[in-house]
Amino acid sequence: MAKTLREDPADAETLSHRLLVRAGYVRRSSAGVWAWLPLGKRVLDNVSRVVREEMDAIGAQEVLLPALLPKEPYEVSGRWSEYGDLLFRLKDRKGADYLLGPTHEEIFTLVVKDQCTSYKDLPVMLYQIQTKYRDEARPRSGVLRGREFQMKDSYSFDVSEEGLEESYRLHREAYVRIFERLGLDHRIVSAVSGAMGGSASEEFLAPAEAGEDTFVDCPSCDYAANTEAVTFALAPAPVSAEHPALEEVDTPDTPTIETLAAHLGVPASATLKNLLVKVDGEITAVGVPGDREVDLGKLGEHLAPAVVELVTAEDFEGRPDLVRGYVGPQGLEKVRYLADPRVAPGTSWVTGANRADTHARNVVCGRDFEVDRYLDVVVVEPGDPCPSCGAGLKLDRAIEIGHIFQLGRKYADAFGLDVLGREGKPVRVTMGSYGIGVSRAVAALAEQTADERGLCWPAAVAPADVHVVAAGKAVPLALAEEAATALAAAGLRVLLDDRPGLSPGVKLTDAELIGVPWILVAGRRSADGVVELQDRASGTREELPLTEALSRLT
Ligand code: ATP
Ligand code: MG
Ligand code: MG
Ligand code: MG
Repeated sequence: MAKTLREDPADAETLSHRLLVRAGYVRRSSAGVWAWLPLGKRVLDNVSRVVREEMDAIGAQEVLLPALLPKEPYEVSGRWSEYGDLLFRLKDRKGADYLLGPTHEEIFTLVVKDQCTSYKDLPVMLYQIQTKYRDEARPRSGVLRGREFQMKDSYSFDVSEEGLEESYRLHREAYVRIFERLGLDHRIVSAVSGAMGGSASEEFLAPAEAGEDTFVDCPSCDYAANTEAVTFALAPAPVSAEHPALEEVDTPDTPTIETLAAHLGVPASATLKNLLVKVDGEITAVGVPGDREVDLGKLGEHLAPAVVELVTAEDFEGRPDLVRGYVGPQGLEKVRYLADPRVAPGTSWVTGANRADTHARNVVCGRDFEVDRYLDVVVVEPGDPCPSCGAGLKLDRAIEIGHIFQLGRKYADAFGLDVLGREGKPVRVTMGSYGIGVSRAVAALAEQTADERGLCWPAAVAPADVHVVAAGKAVPLALAEEAATALAAAGLRVLLDDRPGLSPGVKLTDAELIGVPWILVAGRRSADGVVELQDRASGTREELPLTEALSRLT
């Protein structure tokens, strides 16, 4: 049995982080890199098993691809550079470049290019449950955001749009079943596909205070979206596709990441979403929807070395015409985009460019663009009208536990993935990609289900069915062993606490912290064959003869 801790780890920010460490499920190895101890490994395996069963049920086939990948395919797709600092890069002894896979679209495309040659070989869906690597700017909250983590990633390959839609639908339905079986409360929200490319995309969010995502939820209809997507839905006019002036404006004297970060008082490695800054006292800069994470390095390139400050809540006092939002403990929170950016002509902007995934450099309002042509920004706040039915929207925080994309032909085009079609001519394949954060789901479940006494697992993922506590030596110990043997013989998964020299109180506190659904205590009344049975979730306790307890549990 793993060691439990009385004290919270010093750096723990969230409930799941505190409890998973204290209850001995995981142990930190380095920032964002975690060891899974026996109890944690069981929960992780239980989640993986549910995911695997549902993926198999829709006809997806399991594979295992390497995590250590050559650079070349990621150069072909452009992601070797697009991913920036997020990629773990390394060299082999001959000096060849490698990376540790953050996600595997490129490699799966190559596998299918190799294995499938005719339309008759398709559709095909492949998946793996594998270790992923992302050098996250702010690994936090234990396994919620790791730099090494477990993901189930799957990829679909079809010859037609209808085929892709069907593969997407199958995944969407499988995800709903997976999260229902795991006991994870979740919402499906429309999302912007961002760096993945492609068109349709939805996120699976687990509502939780500890979440880093904000989403809007309509109480009257089934509309739900992440804030980026609702921003697009509410935008009165999209950014013009033709706007050549934007890209050409540049300032030679741009600050470096170091000077900017020092000025903002944040680490140079910081990544901020939807960053608002003040330049020369004016709130002028907005991180761009579509460029999902604006890192300071990128932003730094776009700002003249003027006075740059993060916008705080006070800045919005008396300025309802401006973006409302504030810098909170988690960075900038409750970002609102301007519905009507009445920015004075001559003001510098860092803003969306006229091409996807680019930034305009230090463009000047009035000189380079007109405000009324530049409404890529919208205020979203509680009570705003739902784009679908008009009712007042709610804003909530959540953890992203899954993400499904219709990629289309982005990767098939990059790698020339064709199969021979029905008419004997080559047909370009269309793809989908689908991810579930398997290790993150463990933390999300902990967040949603834990109470003040500790973890409290749903039966489907719990590390055991019954936690048997020997609250005493001799007779209680013998009764506890008898109970554990009988339960195991009946096919239940049992955790037996037979540690000598610990008080019953300590053992019971530990059992509650560990959070197995049933706690069976052999204590004071063991001589009469009486045990105490506790339902961990409700806290209900009952004394009853062991034989009765056994028939209740089996
Ligand atoms: P996030 O917005 O939280 O950074 P993402 O959108 O970058 O996640 P995807 O590329 O969509 O992540 O990956 C698929 C899934 O993998 C996510 O939905 C999430 O559940 C999980 N995941 C992503 N990054 C991490 C991480 N650093 N640690 C643990 N799980 C992660
Ligand atoms: Mg990410
Ligand atoms: Mg995301
Ligand atoms: Mg995502």
